[in-house]
Amino acid sequence: MIVLGCHVSLKAPHYFLGSIQEALSYQANACMIYTGPPSNSKRVSIDQFKIEQAKELMKENDFKIENVIVHAPYIINIGNSLNLDTFSFGCDFLKEELKRVHEIGASILVLHPGSHVKAGKEAGLKQVIDGLNQVLEQDNSNVCIALETMAGKGSEIGSTFEEIAYIKNQIIKKERIKVCLDTCHIHDAGYSLENFDQVLNEFDEIIGLDNLAVIHINDSKNEKGAHKDRHENIGQGYIGFDILHSIVHHPKLEGIPMILETPYIDGKPPYKEEIKKLTLE
Ligand code: FE
Ligand code: FE
Ligand code: ZN
Repeated sequence: MIVLGCHVSLKAPHYFLGSIQEALSYQANACMIYTGPPSNSKRVSIDQFKIEQAKELMKENDFKIENVIVHAPYIINIGNSLNLDTFSFGCDFLKEELKRVHEIGASILVLHPGSHVKAGKEAGLKQVIDGLNQVLEQDNSNVCIALETMAGKGSEIGSTFEEIAYIKNQIIKKERIKVCLDTCHIHDAGYSLENFDQVLNEFDEIIGLDNLAVIHINDSKNEKGAHKDRHENIGQGYIGFDILHSIVHHPKLEGIPMILETPYIDGKPPYKEEIKKLTLE
């Protein structure tokens, strides 16, 4: 079965209930939320999220909680080895975020590995590893952190499968580290999506396909290898509809939650149409 949804908002007054209502309005059977604004760390108490009502609605619509993905705010940077305040703020926030994800009942938290700022890749990687080990040390939930494959913009860490595998292999609680593959990001990082089977084989050899927890389905505004990270609507960018459609229908990816993070068009969400187009045979 194809599990396809999109990024939805979580906001007053209905919070998580509103997120599920929004996802259902697009005919989605998966969704991704931020537990608050993606660009800051202000969070309202989870008591206001209307979780029980949301779960009832999910039950009525056969919408599974394992297909609700949470994305950590992108201001977190546990790859920063130069500003240790930024690093420890990121670690502290992640610890709290894991608790929120667990309370919602979800099991995957997507995280951008981080940026090394000007310290160099090696220092950045080491910092990410230290941070993740510290975060997971006292957390005994079953929530997994899915490291997102990045475009390689600026000093971003995680733009190759090797880097992601390198991080995972040095985590004490390895089983808690999964991966989120973003089609726009890997295209921008230089992977050839025309040969998607080859990319997937590479992923399998280096990281292991069983570690693939989420896929972000986005077209890209830029050419392969541009290291830009600007998402485009499905079929409007350099990846194109056919490739994205074949990824959504790929037999090896069946059942993995896929999430659109494409831009609004004229102030309106494009998700209902994009989900419909991508789901049709
Ligand atoms: Fe992301
Ligand atoms: Fe993404
Ligand atoms: Zn992106």
